[in-house]
Amino acid sequence: MSSADLRDLYQQVIMDHNKKPRNFIDMADANHLAHGNNPLCGDALVVYVKLDGDVIQDLSFQGSGCAISMASASLMTEALKGKTLAEAEVIYQQVHDQLTGESEVDAADLGKLEVLGGVKEFPARVKCATLSWHTMHSALENGTDTEVTTE
Ligand code: ZN
Repeated sequence: MSSADLRDLYQQVIMDHNKKPRNFIDMADANHLAHGNNPLCGDALVVYVKLDGDVIQDLSFQGSGCAISMASASLMTEALKGKTLAEAEVIYQQVHDQLTGESEVDAADLGKLEVLGGVKEFPARVKCATLSWHTMHSALENGTDTEVTTE
């Protein structure tokens, strides 16, 4: 995909998910939960996970923040619902690497999440995009009610 096309797609997907966030609910029977804060931007969200064995049976979030933080969280819930912990870990690493530029990621592996890579062009916003992912990761690792704050 050309970078101009990707930029258009990036804006469309971010705007769509910001306007109509998917899985934007307070999950009453979540068994994993974490709070994420990005004080630089004012993004604050809660990620809820219902883990059944090693399968992410349900995933949702609530909160408020900029369009990038909300869209990234929304995309994440869509991407990880129904995945095993091992699959979720691979996707988490790919998104993280793509956003931080730590290593090259084959965009074809990422599907719709490829648009998050567009955030790399705005380094100040990378933490907005990674917040929900770090928060989800903490929820899975630490169980219930943990706090994540970006540095
Ligand atoms: Zn933000």
